Amino acid sequence: MSFTALKPILPFVGRRTTKCLQRTFATQGFSLNLTDEQREMQAVARKFAREEIAPNAAKYDKSGEFPWDIVKKAHSIGLMNGHIPQEIGGLGLKTFDGCLVTEELAWGCTGILLAIEGTGLGQTPVILAGTPEQKKKYLGRLLEEPLLAAYCVTEPGAGSDVNGVKTKAEKKGDEYILNGQKMWITNGGVANWYFVLARTDPNPKAPASKAFTAFIVDKDTPGITPGRKELNMGQRASDTRGITFEDVRVPKENVLVGEGAGFKIAMGTFDKTRPPVAAAAVGLAQRALDEATKYSLERKTFGVPIATHQAVAFMLADMAMGVETGRLSWMRACNLVDTNNPQKSMAASIAKCFTADMANRVASDAVQIFGGNGFNSEYPVEKLMRDAKIYQIYEGTTQIQRLIISRELIEAEKRKA
Ligand SMILES: Cc1cc2nc3c(=O)[nH]c(=O)nc-3n(C[C@H](O)[C@H](O)[C@H](O)COP(=O)(O)OP(=O)(O)OC[C@H]3O[C@@H](n4cnc5c(N)ncnc54)[C@H](O)[C@@H]3O)c2cc1C
Repeated sequence: MSFTALKPILPFVGRRTTKCLQRTFATQGFSLNLTDEQREMQAVARKFAREEIAPNAAKYDKSGEFPWDIVKKAHSIGLMNGHIPQEIGGLGLKTFDGCLVTEELAWGCTGILLAIEGTGLGQTPVILAGTPEQKKKYLGRLLEEPLLAAYCVTEPGAGSDVNGVKTKAEKKGDEYILNGQKMWITNGGVANWYFVLARTDPNPKAPASKAFTAFIVDKDTPGITPGRKELNMGQRASDTRGITFEDVRVPKENVLVGEGAGFKIAMGTFDKTRPPVAAAAVGLAQRALDEATKYSLERKTFGVPIATHQAVAFMLADMAMGVETGRLSWMRACNLVDTNNPQKSMAASIAKCFTADMANRVASDAVQIFGGNGFNSEYPVEKLMRDAKIYQIYEGTTQIQRLIISRELIEAEKRKA
């Protein structure tokens, strides 16, 4: 329904409501119809997922090797770094457009998707908070060559509780000296540069909003040692490592915004990066649904395809409902992020949490529909179930998302009172 279509009823609603509706239509323009450009972009990503990613998914899952050949191809056809701003030479895509691509690539393999898109998590703080010089230097090189970034916040003793970060940075002249240990860093061994959060205020009572500083750190700086590649349950093509920082000298020009601004930058990043995680979970769930639907028409028991047993058909229906509502949730979150709506963080958390749980349920149901074959690595759904689990853990666990959502809800209610 357009704003014009609503005009006849506007005199009957209050002035405040009218203003609110006008604002909504002016800024959000909610539409589920994709533009020709968006459909084209989606089609390119879909083709790449089917022709380049899916056929290689099992190989990289087994070997755990980083899929550089696929990353390089994705880079060469412009499927990477779409969110880098136009002033640096990028496409400056909205979160929504980026997520259209993400969902398609995730259908092929979420481990390879993470190898292609995990770099976005390291880049986003620089896009949000970098100076023009920092952006040009560090984002520009990612456009020129298939190089990657990484986001280094988590530590052995600090994951959900970011305030517990112990890596410290001490100012000495025009440099900062970094010492500490990061853990579970995606692209830890393959990135060209890192976003690093470190404590600059040694006072343990200093509030998080002032205690931490964000740095861009070149990976080849002396004193940086990435650990061994972790052997994870799923998304094995991705490179996850611990990283040790020992007397690493970082020029003061590489501080983002200023001393003490790090926590806000690190947390603000998630509004932009949680919707893509949600879109990826939907892509995985769509794959599980597609595989299960196809199999249910091929496999016969009691003389009929299993799809004709209502118990199986209803599982497929529940899976389809999850995929569709999950897709709507990332689209809604992107819409609020792209229009800078104050409820964007809550919507990003809702999408991330809902789709993570949904993808785990759908992947597990796909295994169920495959029966014994579902439990076997010769068939694709076992991998989907392993790959899905991480969506409930990284970029804030499902418990932490519920904490964010409930806090926002309660605060909004208090403001009304
Ligand atoms: C494959 C992989 C890739 C990753 N990539 C990155 C990366 O690139 N960069 C990066 O910085 N980090 C990365 N991480 C780290 C990830 O974000 C953390 O593992 C995650 O935030 C959880 O932290 P934790 O492992 O310390 O668990 P903990 O914080 O110890 O949590 C353990 C359990 O307690 C629950 N819990 C904790 N606190 C609360 C609370 N207040 N209320 C309710 N429940 C709670 C959690 O939900 C969880 O179930 C990655 C992790 C993995 C496994």
